[in-house]
Amino acid sequence: MAETPIVRVAVDTPLRRTFDYLAGGAVPQPGARVRVPFGRRQLVGIVLELGADSGVPRGKLKSIGSVLDAEPVLDAELLALLRWAAEYYHHPIGEVLFAALPKLAREGAPARAGRTLWAATADGAAALAASALKRAPRQREVLSALVQGDRLDAGAIAALGTNAREAAHALVKRGWAVAREAPDPDPAAATGAGSVGEGEAGGRARASPFALTPEQQAAVDAIAAAHDRFGAFLLHGITGSGKTEVYLRLVEQVLARGERALILVPEIGLTPQLVGRFAARFATPIATLHSALTGTARLTAWRDALSGRARIVLGTRSAVFAPMAGLGIIVIDEEHDASFKQHEGGFRYSARDIAVMRAQRAGVPIVLGSATPSLESLHNAQQGRYARLELPRRAGEALPPRLALVDLRAEALRNGLSTHVVETMRRHLEGHGQVLVFLNRRGYAPTLACTACGWIAGCTSCDARLTVHARAARLKCHHCGADAALPTRCPTCGYEVRAVGQGTERVEETLAMLFPQVPLARLDRDVVRRDEELAAVLARVASGEARILVGTQMVTKGHDFPDVTLAVVLNADHGLFSTDFRAAERLAQTIVQVAGRAGRGSRPGEVLIQTEYPGHPLLTSLLERGYDGFAGTALAERREAGWPPFGRLAALRASAASLHEAVEFLAEARRLLAPPPAIRLLGPAPAAMARRADRFHAQLLVESIDRTALHRFLDAWLPQAEGLPGARRVRWALDVDPLELF
Ligand code: ADP
Ligand code: ZN
Repeated sequence: MAETPIVRVAVDTPLRRTFDYLAGGAVPQPGARVRVPFGRRQLVGIVLELGADSGVPRGKLKSIGSVLDAEPVLDAELLALLRWAAEYYHHPIGEVLFAALPKLAREGAPARAGRTLWAATADGAAALAASALKRAPRQREVLSALVQGDRLDAGAIAALGTNAREAAHALVKRGWAVAREAPDPDPAAATGAGSVGEGEAGGRARASPFALTPEQQAAVDAIAAAHDRFGAFLLHGITGSGKTEVYLRLVEQVLARGERALILVPEIGLTPQLVGRFAARFATPIATLHSALTGTARLTAWRDALSGRARIVLGTRSAVFAPMAGLGIIVIDEEHDASFKQHEGGFRYSARDIAVMRAQRAGVPIVLGSATPSLESLHNAQQGRYARLELPRRAGEALPPRLALVDLRAEALRNGLSTHVVETMRRHLEGHGQVLVFLNRRGYAPTLACTACGWIAGCTSCDARLTVHARAARLKCHHCGADAALPTRCPTCGYEVRAVGQGTERVEETLAMLFPQVPLARLDRDVVRRDEELAAVLARVASGEARILVGTQMVTKGHDFPDVTLAVVLNADHGLFSTDFRAAERLAQTIVQVAGRAGRGSRPGEVLIQTEYPGHPLLTSLLERGYDGFAGTALAERREAGWPPFGRLAALRASAASLHEAVEFLAEARRLLAPPPAIRLLGPAPAAMARRADRFHAQLLVESIDRTALHRFLDAWLPQAEGLPGARRVRWALDVDPLELF
């Protein structure tokens, strides 16, 4: 009889290795979850591969505890992609594999929905809205999950916590929930949270409302012609040029072939509007995956992707790892968006770059859409690696907006608003247009200062000033969350204090004084914390009830407000003089995105950009030659300096209770290995804001023109750095292709 196979298992730990077990009973498949004894604990692990032998004598190996999945949850294609990612990002395989699963699945929740499904009744929803069950918090929690999450199975209910099952039964007794047996054990029959659409699995599309423009048609044709092989397409289309319509047509064809579509959008781009557009077009269940979902809703959406019930998966960053058997296309909307980069925690990755690799391995096309493509993607297009498709015109008859600079040095200012801007706003409002005002700073004012002694309110835990929040009467740190009462007098000399500078809250207040008759809306993280609140603000603007919209970055993304005729960028200067080589790119993207909000309907739009540096080459090249003109200048600078996309970067980052410890660890790491000639080490240096939440941050940059050399160096260097005594005293992480340098 053949010997039982050795099972190589990855567990969710930062260890750069797998662990060998004997298959006890049934032999699990690679990509399936198992429970394994690990030290004195039982852990969930993922089978990476089966082998014939082990470095450890068989007699010393333990057996798998139990096999959780008869079918793999990570299929061979996904498993291979994740192994590639672990190598490319030089990150421990276990943490990479587990990053591909929703939290509850990591803890061992069944991959398929059970047969009994609980759902809230209308009475239950009403009771929840009326804040019932104050004294039965567990029941309230379960009811809230049911109302939010459609239908949940026993596993999902149990995952809500101890006594959740009892609470669910109590809700049924009250008539606020019902428990029903699913009609058949087919997993495709289970429906649920995070998924929309009830249509038949065939995924038939409803008729498109209009004919494509010639440019849209050309884009669809080019991409569709490559449907059976890998191809990367950079779809460069200004806002409103009909990119989403192109995605919809491509998805239509993919579904008609019986394949599935993966659509990735930025954190803030997954609006009810966008989901609604897909749901309205396709009579097929759509799984939506994003960070705001509760654990159970996420599990359900993931199960829908795994079972194949959802033919479309629409999600943010981590959805790049969604199970997608029969994948036919990947779309990344707003591919330049920074939220595709995971820049925190251990496993730091670019969902965009992984998506391109995923498409390549799956042999399917990928569409990278943007009005303001990243310089990386533009460079890839110039090199012939991506095919570039242009949508230069707006769909419908809208004209591109006119951009102009407003010289802040020559203008009288009122709380950051120049007379010229105020007068132009008045003209547009009188002409029944809507106005959008963008400022990348929330709160009332960025600084609170004493008018006598010069005291400035600073954070005790960060190298940062505290932001004034006037309405809430609080002083807050936007870096660590510190929060204190707003003083009216200087704590050192007792004299009066004053709020200096502008945030969105103050701009809103000023505009309310200047235009008392005009209804205003504000959009930033202080007023909008949840999806429903965002939807409510967007609805007020879309309906025309609110005529002025003031906001942060949130206002620049994807929403369609056809009556906005004027967009104002209150201060362009943050991006002009930064130590971060990407700041200029982000500024140009923001300006173009804000401009894209103006004049989407049939009326032409106008854009005003306030600056103290109207002669800055970045601004002038952008205004005179558009985003492409700007990109040409910026790419030439990057080539000169050897920055990405010409050079390759990795950042070793460390933080500790003292700056000395953080820097010392990096300095030791630097001394470990003399870099080959192709590699340059820069640093260690303290971060620009070294102290954040009482920890001190520093970084060491590894730079090379040669990608292979860079990775070879990291392969040799990182395990040694990991073994340094200092590695256990500091928190550290490697960031390959970092987006932000600080
Ligand atoms: P983008 O995604 O590039 O911002 P959208 O696809 O959202 O652009 O299109 C902008 C607006 O134009 C939408 O209201 C959309 O319904 C409409 N639209 C798109 N394509 C066409 C077309 N071919 N003819 C008429 N209207 C169109
Ligand atoms: Zn702070």
